[in-house]
Amino acid sequence: MTPTSLIGGHVSVTGGLAKGGLACMAEIGAEMIQVFVTNPRGWALAAGRPDQDALLAESGVDTFIHVPYLANFGSPSPETLANSVAIVRHTLRRGVDIAAKGVVVHTGSAVSQSRDDALRQLREHLLPLLDEIPDGGPDLLLEPMAGQGAMLCATVQDLEPYLAALDWHPRAGVCFDTCHAFAAGHDLAAEGGTRETFDLLHKIAPGRLKLIHANDSKDACGSKKDRHENIGAGLIGAPAFGEMMRHPAVAGVPICIETPGKTDKHREDIETLKRLRDG
Ligand SMILES: [Zn+2]
Repeated sequence: MTPTSLIGGHVSVTGGLAKGGLACMAEIGAEMIQVFVTNPRGWALAAGRPDQDALLAESGVDTFIHVPYLANFGSPSPETLANSVAIVRHTLRRGVDIAAKGVVVHTGSAVSQSRDDALRQLREHLLPLLDEIPDGGPDLLLEPMAGQGAMLCATVQDLEPYLAALDWHPRAGVCFDTCHAFAAGHDLAAEGGTRETFDLLHKIAPGRLKLIHANDSKDACGSKKDRHENIGAGLIGAPAFGEMMRHPAVAGVPICIETPGKTDKHREDIETLKRLRDG
């Protein structure tokens, strides 16, 4: 039997990682969760609360942590680079504390420097962090972006040089965001487009897909714009998500929404995905 993908969402942890996060999970009908453990728009290395960490770890819920958006290992700014190292190291440690399955980090941008310099910098500063992950700790999941500006990795093909810069480290996984991939030019809405995209992902990075961010897109394929939409309300459309969940490379890979709106909308998106999975 093919393993089933758990379907869940990014949840608020107001009130505590376990208390707030698990309550929110129940409200939206999620089977897995993604959380922030620090301010998503800052660099502060927030300490956890051991009681909440233990409760979440003991809950057995599949949990992923998203690193703050500012992290960028391709940045020419020494300050941004140092902050990126500190925040990813901190988040990986927090991942151990809460028994997270994975820590998601955006693949970043070269900004004003060359792609080669940015990839060298990635190798020098991110590879050691992958080596530090203890056995049983979370994998580091690299999330390709929509492709604006000097993004280092947007298309599935871009994953090849990116992962090569990290020596194809065994703890480097992939978090595939459907909205980002569509914006980067993978036409998931076209006949066979979803199958082709996941075939290619499996060919380039076999076994590395560890999480999917399931988001519809407000903008057209190839727009390079990163504006998430509710499932079925955007230009990707619901059928593509059904096709995705039937792809063998996606079997058992958790699926997490990061869609607009509040509880009601999120519950609806999760229901839609469950229907497409189970129907
Ligand atoms: Zn995402």
